Amino acid sequence: MVDANLVCKTSDTLLTAMELINKNAKGVVFVLDQDEKLCGIATDGDIRRALLNGFKLQGQIAQVMNTAYVYARDTDGEHDMLSKINYKVKIIPIVNESMRMVDYFEFKQGIRVPVAEPALNGNEFSYATDAILSTWISSNGKYIKLFEENFSQYCGCKYGAAVSNGTTALHLALLALNVGQGDEVIVPDLTFAATINTVLHAQATPVIVDVEEDSWCIDPKEIEKAITPRTKAIIPVHLYGQPCNMAEIMRIAKAHHLYVIEDCAEAHGAEYGRKKVGSFGDISCFSFFGNKVITTGEGGMCLTNSSELNDRMRVLRDHGMSKTKKYWHDMVGYNYRMTNIQAAIGVAQLEHIGELLYKRNELELQYNKALAPVKGIELQKRNLADRKKITWLVSILAPGEKRDQLLNLFNENGLEVRPFFYPLSQMDIYRKYGFGDLSVSRKISAKGINLPTTLNIKESAIEKIKELLIKNI
Ligand SMILES: *Cc1c(COP(=O)(O)O)cnc(C)c1O
Repeated sequence: MVDANLVCKTSDTLLTAMELINKNAKGVVFVLDQDEKLCGIATDGDIRRALLNGFKLQGQIAQVMNTAYVYARDTDGEHDMLSKINYKVKIIPIVNESMRMVDYFEFKQGIRVPVAEPALNGNEFSYATDAILSTWISSNGKYIKLFEENFSQYCGCKYGAAVSNGTTALHLALLALNVGQGDEVIVPDLTFAATINTVLHAQATPVIVDVEEDSWCIDPKEIEKAITPRTKAIIPVHLYGQPCNMAEIMRIAKAHHLYVIEDCAEAHGAEYGRKKVGSFGDISCFSFFGNKVITTGEGGMCLTNSSELNDRMRVLRDHGMSKTKKYWHDMVGYNYRMTNIQAAIGVAQLEHIGELLYKRNELELQYNKALAPVKGIELQKRNLADRKKITWLVSILAPGEKRDQLLNLFNENGLEVRPFFYPLSQMDIYRKYGFGDLSVSRKISAKGINLPTTLNIKESAIEKIKELLIKNI
């Protein structure tokens, strides 16, 4: 049954209608005729305007109500209902075949604030269309070279090899450095699984170490402890936009003759000591998946300053085919190429990466200001020495015992949030690769929440998040 405060009769007065609106707090009242059929809708605005035009409070609502209203049928699906509502029409009645009101549909019920959303408001459409019209839609074409040049330059690297995604980028980097069977590769416990999966794809042995308490990134002290004569590489992951301690990691790598492959999938544009992440390692890997800072739909890139490594990656991503002798294969290669259409979108994304990062940062500041008074939560650190983080997903730590309940509450309220990654070492398939004490990553993982970081978020959504946190911690 529909709430009695939501409906009135044609014979009711404007005053009665206003009282009902006051009680139902929906801003509208639905008007029924003598046969209980829906015949009109009056909003608080309709009544206010009527009063200003000389109608009396004792006048009949029937003379004021809107008869050309939007409604849904009880046979309509959710999608049909969603298409009928918007910021102006926030609530619509649902009627059966005899125009009896059976329910209502509200804007709030359908709206979701996504955790991430691509911003394709630059030249993305235009360049992608250009790529299509040129018929160079596969992995040759001008945008590939342009994207590789522009992105490597943006990161302060000499060469870029565009690939099909961030995972193939990591695999390609390991292959190019000849990391394989018998080699150990040190990875952080707190990361997306692609970091460790690619080590296993390369048939090397991952060694999982703990992260730092303040940055949530791989702990250089733990790297040092985990080094053995078989260690060949380290994969630092700049997690949730925060750069790793690259000075220490590069010092350790140099001292022990280890390769460094930076996993920059979550930190495009972040800096360590005024140098962009991705410019430190032997090879660095980026992802352009749809939820990353810039996107090509699916896509990735390997950056390097070594022309030999760049050449090797270009051969390996293209079936291992010789660059001088077509269909002659010197290496067992892969098809890890990016398409020209993806690269076209990437070129356009890169044109406004500065603006995107600025707006993302502003959003994080807005969150931090709103959430500063909330007791019991911890915001991601923004001021670690030498590090200039970027905002990928706004991230907070909440009390561990409340975290899952908070995740549910946010999702029920249309606010899409995510828990942090599970520690790799907690999952059965990776457990045996854990090294030493991994308690910091466990603690952080159990507390972490990624908040909606779409640039289209409304201030009211941030206020709602604040309110839910205050009420439920
Ligand atoms: C997204 C991500 C990847 C993988 O990138 P894909 O393009 O999705 O394959 C690798 N590492 C980290 C840390 C990531 O967040």
